Amino acid sequence: MAIAINNTFPRLLPLRLPKVCVAVTGSDATELVDKAEAAVRDSGFLEFRLDYLSRPASAASKIKNFTELHPQVFSVATCRRKAGGGRFQGSVAAQLQILSRAANSGCQLVDVELETAERAKPAALQKLRTRAALILSYHDFRSSKKLEGILERMARVPADFYKIVTTATTLSDNVTMMKFLEQHSDRHSLIGLCMGEQGIISRVLGLRAGSVFTFASANPGEETGPGQVTAQELRSTYRIENLDAATRVYGVAGDPIAHSLSPIIMNTALRRENVNGVYVALHAKSLADLMACVREIPIHGLSITMPYKEAILEHLDNTDSHTAQIGACNTVVRAQDGKLYGFNTDTSGIVRPLEQRLSLPAAKVLVLGAGGAARAAVFGLKERGSEVYILNRTLAASQKLARAARARFIKRADLKKFTSFDVIVNATSVGMGNSKDAPLSDNEINARFLFEMIYDPPETRLIQMARARGVEVIPGIEMLVQQAARQFEIWTGKPAPLDEMLRVARLAMQERTARKAWAKAAGKKK
Ligand code: NAP
Repeated sequence: MAIAINNTFPRLLPLRLPKVCVAVTGSDATELVDKAEAAVRDSGFLEFRLDYLSRPASAASKIKNFTELHPQVFSVATCRRKAGGGRFQGSVAAQLQILSRAANSGCQLVDVELETAERAKPAALQKLRTRAALILSYHDFRSSKKLEGILERMARVPADFYKIVTTATTLSDNVTMMKFLEQHSDRHSLIGLCMGEQGIISRVLGLRAGSVFTFASANPGEETGPGQVTAQELRSTYRIENLDAATRVYGVAGDPIAHSLSPIIMNTALRRENVNGVYVALHAKSLADLMACVREIPIHGLSITMPYKEAILEHLDNTDSHTAQIGACNTVVRAQDGKLYGFNTDTSGIVRPLEQRLSLPAAKVLVLGAGGAARAAVFGLKERGSEVYILNRTLAASQKLARAARARFIKRADLKKFTSFDVIVNATSVGMGNSKDAPLSDNEINARFLFEMIYDPPETRLIQMARARGVEVIPGIEMLVQQAARQFEIWTGKPAPLDEMLRVARLAMQERTARKAWAKAAGKKK
């Protein structure tokens, strides 16, 4: 027997439900239940998305077998209509009948969207509610507005849970959702979150704000809503079941941000060092929006990436002299008094891997590029006493940087006059993504070490050419991890678990490269 729900104890149900409900889909009942069997290994709470089935009415007996086999598992039956973001196209009566059968098959909860509930006969809804707890749901696929008004409208329909899912078009929409949850969760059992890439904050911090539970996908690629993350990510990366009022929030802010490896690297470090903190990717379309979130959530530490490393400076209360000199900040700390301080840890990202391999005071280093990353390299290396040469496509930029850092600039045509460097640092963007270009030609790579800042792809054309010439390569992932390690130290005052951070970063990169290769191969087959 599945755990029974009846009207004698629906008030206790929110306390007993696990915090993450895993949405399970399938094109037929067999696939649906097979996926449920896989999900149930790690989850005690599932949502059967019956509207994804080609014949939603056909699943009852298979669901019954499943619930009898797993009496400890809680399950929600959902048969969402197309207008509500689902796939069901039948009548309201047919929808309620499917849900009723699912309830009879052991699903302890059923989800009915507000629009259906308003069209259904109240008696039919209440009859359904005698068999299963009713989640009344509302979805807004465009915005996160008028949440109070929506709840008022929903509260006219008696239900056990009120679920409000909106869309975040700004980071601040998450703040709106979380404040709403904080204000109303003592009167209603609420489930609230924002969809979309920008809604990740509400998915991670919604429970802390008062959402009874949240939703996750079973596997990558099986999302039932925009921006949904996997249950595994919510549990292991974000540790959402452990977040509490004292949890400090950190994040990486940029535009775009979806492919950032920082959340996996930083959350791994926070977990490994037992820091009560969580780190999220913040897709900031404007700095004003980001800064509002920093104040309201509040956010205790930020990694800043493209395109905000320079523009963030005017929003800070202070920076160290090194950061001011470079003119770019990649790390923000919120002090206890609420003031924001900026640092640049890209320098550590460059200097630390080099110091592990050679003596910098005596080193002759060629830096390719004169942008933000090159500035961090040039100032950092000069500070360590290296002899630094700058080569950049735009001569004026290399001259300006050389003047500011008391380094030397060289023209490409003069490169052949130099027999050799100890290190060549590629701080240009040449070779990124799918590009097969390199900033130097084969016979210009005369050095003991090549430090390639680019980490995606892990093997650039420049790296391949360097290896072929017997030059030792320092890959960009080391810079990424070392600058993150320094951020971790600044934020937490603890030494960073460097090896573990490097391990997960490499693994994530390998998985990404494998996924790309798989997608390319699948594309060719079509
Ligand atoms: P940026 O400020 O935009 O500077 C880009 C630099 O690349 C400029 O010097 C630019 O020269 C040069 N460049 C661009 N296209 C070129 C081309 N076709 N031929 C020759 N030179 C070209 O960028 P950034 O923030 O400094 O980043 C530079 C690289 O470092 C990027 O690949 C970035 O991903 C990488 N990076 C890695 C890490 C890490 O953790 N591993 C951290 C930061 C940055 P002009 O002045 O002539 O335009």
